Amino acid sequence: MKTPMDNTHRVDDTEENLEKCICKMCPTFKKNNLADYPPTALFCARGKSEIPSDIKTTNCYCLGCDIFIKHGLVISHLCVHR
Ligand code: SF4
Ligand code: SF4
Repeated sequence: MKTPMDNTHRVDDTEENLEKCICKMCPTFKKNNLADYPPTALFCARGKSEIPSDIKTTNCYCLGCDIFIKHGLVISHLCVHR
């Protein structure tokens, strides 16, 4: 039987969640111009970036994000891995 807990790690693609996403402040995001490629932010809900080249990763701010903490996410650099 499904319980609400089953969805703990699932992040919904909502306006409210988008506002909480701090990707746009992150060095990796800026360095790779991830705003120019879909899904532009909220990678934990929308999946990884569709940028055609490899993402040059530096810091990831996900670990300090309210959504990351609230949903008990584990892996960072979601723009690359999700
Ligand atoms: S966990 Fe990362 S990708 Fe998801 S909303 Fe927070 S900063 Fe954005
Ligand atoms: S998922 Fe992490 S590394 Fe990627 S843009 Fe968001 S905060 Fe930066």
